[in-house]
Amino acid sequence: MKILVTGGAGYIGSHVVNTLGENGHDIIVFDNLSTGHDWAVLYGKLEVGNLEDGSHLNDVINAFRPDAVMHFAASIQVEESVREPLKYYRNNVANTLNLLDAMDHNGIRNFIYSSSAAVYGIPDKLLVDEAVPLHPINPYGASKAMVETVLGDIARASDLRYIALRYFNVAGADPKTRIGQAYLDATHLITRALKTAQGDFTKLSIFGTDYPTPDGTCIRDYIHVVDLANAHLLALDYLMETKKSDIMNCGYGHGFSVREVVAAAKKVTGINFTVEEAPRRAGDPPQLVADSTKLRSMTGWQPLYDDLEFIIRTAWEWELKLKQRRRQP
Ligand code: UDP
Repeated sequence: MKILVTGGAGYIGSHVVNTLGENGHDIIVFDNLSTGHDWAVLYGKLEVGNLEDGSHLNDVINAFRPDAVMHFAASIQVEESVREPLKYYRNNVANTLNLLDAMDHNGIRNFIYSSSAAVYGIPDKLLVDEAVPLHPINPYGASKAMVETVLGDIARASDLRYIALRYFNVAGADPKTRIGQAYLDATHLITRALKTAQGDFTKLSIFGTDYPTPDGTCIRDYIHVVDLANAHLLALDYLMETKKSDIMNCGYGHGFSVREVVAAAKKVTGINFTVEEAPRRAGDPPQLVADSTKLRSMTGWQPLYDDLEFIIRTAWEWELKLKQRRRQP
């Protein structure tokens, strides 16, 4: 199939592009390289462009005529979204509308959307299924929920079909260490812990130790990025086969606390980096764990890497490689 991938030079997008390429798909990546990298695009053609530029987008879609669009390009940091909400509504909502416009204009009907567990806010259930009401508690989550509403409305009014995949905490890297997370200002827990182990930071802060969880720190469902990439491929197959829109959670169904992740990171790296207890970070719900029954039963998805130490090990090998690469002139 021909697939246009926005944000395909970024962390999750580049792993999905790799999986699509390995499965013989024809790909164009549309990315402004604001946080992505050209070297991360292992398959297909890279078109450097901004989603704000509707006419560029239109030209690319018109020339390529993709069977489906996968949309990863977005701003993704919860804390930043609280400080700079406008950036999040512009990049995540307004730019997605541009993309949907360009698709509509060219009669492109199939859409895979990167949504997030942040749409749930503070869920009233321990295991979150897709029927749990959406009450986002930060602008990032709100921006993802808004686009889900938009997609539902467009799908009811036209023949657009979509799968929205609600990602829980994506981590790890390509087990062959070719690609991985490479943001300059990484804020996610596992990356931050590993960069602290490497000496890039003097200490790792644990944001909040008074949450209503067994050890007082937040619990998250960490999913390996390659398992998430496989979920995209299966979701696309499902969409093309059934022509039915749907929403599916992507996670393993069990979580780890911040303290457990820190302990695993120390074990994998063999480095006893400094950790401090710090106040809560704005916008963090205490616990987010996926009920991913729907993804499994509807697409046949089965995780390959449901193992926190494996996730951290692949991320660590990638961090070591990245550091080496940045040292080279
Ligand atoms: N966290 C932390 N220290 C850090 C980064 C994150 O304690 O340096 C915590 C954060 O408060 C949250 C959990 O780790 O409870 C996961 O945060 P992350 O940013 O990785 O993902 P999010 O759940 O916000 O998408």
